[in-house]
Amino acid sequence: MNACERKYKRNGDSMQISFQAFGTYNQIMIEENCLPLLEDCRALCEAIEAKFSAFRPSSAISEISAQAGIRPVAIDEETFFMLKRAQDFSNLSRGAFDITIRPATALWGIGKKGDFVPDDGNLHQLQELVNYKGLILDQKNGTAMLQKAGQQIDLGGIAKGYAADRARDYLIQNRCSSALINFGGNIATIGKKQNGDRWQIGVQNPLAKRGLFIGTVGLANQTMVTSGVNERFFIRDGKRYHHILDPRTCRPADSSLLSVTVIGNRSTDMDALSTALFVLGPDEGAKLANQTGCHALFILSNREIFATEGFTQMLKREV
Ligand code: ADP
Ligand code: MG
Repeated sequence: MNACERKYKRNGDSMQISFQAFGTYNQIMIEENCLPLLEDCRALCEAIEAKFSAFRPSSAISEISAQAGIRPVAIDEETFFMLKRAQDFSNLSRGAFDITIRPATALWGIGKKGDFVPDDGNLHQLQELVNYKGLILDQKNGTAMLQKAGQQIDLGGIAKGYAADRARDYLIQNRCSSALINFGGNIATIGKKQNGDRWQIGVQNPLAKRGLFIGTVGLANQTMVTSGVNERFFIRDGKRYHHILDPRTCRPADSSLLSVTVIGNRSTDMDALSTALFVLGPDEGAKLANQTGCHALFILSNREIFATEGFTQMLKREV
């Protein structure tokens, strides 16, 4: 088997590519005549990962963090867009979504291997650094600055969604009319399946193995994103620690939820929202979902399911 055959797989009347990026598994399924576009999508995804990674010292994001409290950093339009979008969702969620969470995600070792519980004193000190209001975006001069020394940016809660949007836009521009993009659980669709059916997408059961669903939804042109405790976590002294932090405490959000799934038009927005709604919990979360016009489904720690009306209408429960 050569390398090319390994990357691509036939799936019914579609072709599929699978690759690693963002520390996770990514997949695109596409009509066969668009096959040559798959390699470009993969390159696009990898470029976005590199550009927005907090782990690469050469990224603009790392530069903004390195210059925190010192000076504004000139950024390109795309970086400006990302930071602005993130800031919009920080404002909308009143700080539940906050990309200045990086000092806390770094201390917890999120994105790296390790199951480490920082001590209270250290976490407390970080609370004044984690504040989205300290990110100053200057559109006229095309710069970004973090106000306080020690502040740092983490786009892990929004970058995969953005990459899914970019891949989707690229495919549409190149006349692709049927595709399914899955970047680490950020699902974006183009049109319907080639047989005319909607894309049937499972809503993961957060207490079961990957691929076991509480139900499915039929998507056509929409995007669906899930944030949950089952994706990245560790157990220490019988307590479960996951990777979505409450910016107010810098600890794993304790919002009585196992997962939140949102459906809407843009994956960038849904990625930020799913993280925000997870931190806010079902009551505040449902209000924000309605305010932003997305559909949301919350799976509570007690296994109850709570969904907005729009989501309930779309969900076909597993029997
Ligand atoms: P996943 O990465 O599993 O798809 P999310 O989209 O919810 O899940 O993003 C979680 C990631 O976002 C974390 O790994 C971390 O990098 C970052 N993050 C954690 N808490 C927050 C938060 N409250 N606001 C913004 N980003 C966060
Ligand atoms: Mg997210």
